[in-house]
Amino acid sequence: MEGETRGEDRAFEAIVKGVAEELGLQREECPVVGTVDPCAIVIVGASGDLTGRKLLPALFELYRNGGLPVDFSIVGCARTGWRDEEFRTHAKKSLKEAGKYDRLKWSGFAPHLHYTAMDYEDLPSFEKLAGTLRKLDKKHGTSGNRIFYLAIPPQLYETAAQMLGKADLSAENKEGSGWVRIVVEKPFGRDLETAVALDRTIHEHFGEHQIFRIDHYLAKETVQNLLMFRFANAIFEPIWNRRYIDYVSITAAETLGVEHRAGYYEQSGVLRDMFQNHMMQLLALTAMEPPSLFEADLVRDEKAKLYRALRPFQAENLANQIVLGQYDRGTIDGKPVPGYREEPDVSPQSLTPTYASMKVFVDNWRWQGVPFYLTSGKRLRAKKTEIAIQYKEVPHSMFRQTLGEHISANRLILGIYPEEKITLTFQTKNPGARVCLRSVTMDFNYLQGYEGPALDAYEKVLLDVMLGDHMLFWRQDGVELCWSFLTPILQGCETCDNREEMLLPYEAGSRGPEGAKRVRKKQS
Ligand code: NDP
Repeated sequence: MEGETRGEDRAFEAIVKGVAEELGLQREECPVVGTVDPCAIVIVGASGDLTGRKLLPALFELYRNGGLPVDFSIVGCARTGWRDEEFRTHAKKSLKEAGKYDRLKWSGFAPHLHYTAMDYEDLPSFEKLAGTLRKLDKKHGTSGNRIFYLAIPPQLYETAAQMLGKADLSAENKEGSGWVRIVVEKPFGRDLETAVALDRTIHEHFGEHQIFRIDHYLAKETVQNLLMFRFANAIFEPIWNRRYIDYVSITAAETLGVEHRAGYYEQSGVLRDMFQNHMMQLLALTAMEPPSLFEADLVRDEKAKLYRALRPFQAENLANQIVLGQYDRGTIDGKPVPGYREEPDVSPQSLTPTYASMKVFVDNWRWQGVPFYLTSGKRLRAKKTEIAIQYKEVPHSMFRQTLGEHISANRLILGIYPEEKITLTFQTKNPGARVCLRSVTMDFNYLQGYEGPALDAYEKVLLDVMLGDHMLFWRQDGVELCWSFLTPILQGCETCDNREEMLLPYEAGSRGPEGAKRVRKKQS
């Protein structure tokens, strides 16, 4: 009886809401949760690419939309010998290049920008920074709260963390300091051993609650939506398992080449650049069990359980589980582009893979026997990040006399980028006298019906660091579990005798190496 009354109440609420929306009286928006404390945001490596292309535009956007606290400062640090004015000029140029510049807002934003030249290995530089921050606390009212964003090459993370600690910049609630957080960019190590060592060094000076290991992919709206889609709807979860799903494909394809990042990419390659972080996160969000509560540690516990269930690759069977490729010359958007080995700062003999496709199994009750195909590469035909859930065919075709045994199976696509949408393909009868089927697709565009503000990934991660919310950041156990899974694969691929033969060339602008189909065909 009580249930009935609640049902009626809900029906009534829905009608009232529907009428109100029709009349334009109500629009649902996601409010920003929590308040942002005053703080200083220190960018170590402020003269670099990431700062110019992503961090400064994201901070400015947050400022424009009221996402920054009223009392804030942004302090750039790098070896480049700038002063405040030169850093501001650089920031203004970066905003213009990113198409974010707004003259009116800039005049309010610019006075919050400061710069301190530093040598990352020099303790006095960091002590000078500490003094500058104390002065800026007074000037901007930032209450001693600090974020240190490491936007420097990964080999400098440990040094910078140590220097921050030695200069007493990591200690919280001490002599005028408030909370202190450190943000570490990807890559977090280059294998299990280096990831563990990096973590140990950072932990010498920072507690786990102070450490934010970034994966900006997690902050994409459509990636966050994965858990909402799976666990806020009752109809998908019952068929989200081995009984109904044939396979899952997770793809992150780029049309861009290595661009200006050859120095980094030559050392990393696609497995370290995309798989250890982004692909593993997409896999976890697709395959993990529901946590009991949407809370940072409970969500990350479930991800860790999923990573523990990954079936290790067998060294002797590597070629059946992974395909590596490297792009050759080709055409993208009608324009000729060079091969990877012809790119500036890339060795003409480079054996760095720019493409990988692997077949992964999750050894648990839900997923036993279901292959997950993870594919990522540069200079592919189209830029596309998506998760495709391929359902099994119907168990028995009652239309076999007219339509044959096979009926196309259902497919659910969770588009992440550039198409932010969800599509479901199913069969319907083709109108007309004859019995024939056609595949139709229902689609939902993620921003459809929403007019409120949407945060870009770096805006979201910066906001979450200011709020102290760890939900979208890696926890160390997740990092280590993923490295434990990938390190033997990397070792296998990088030390095998036939390393060169394993690396299949593919034409830029194509779908990847022909041989990639091999991984899909072979059984586990
Ligand atoms: P950059 O190569 O642009 O370097 C950042 C700054 O570090 C430079 O401006 C430079 O400043 C300093 N630096 C560079 N090389 C050295 C060196 N050998 N020794 C000492 N200082 C050096 O890096 P990015 O901005 O591209 O990336 C920063 C971090 O963010 C990296 O860890 C990267 O992996 C990560 N990242 C970058 C992304 C991007 O799109 N760029 C995306 C995702 C992650 P100065 O000479 O003034 O000291």
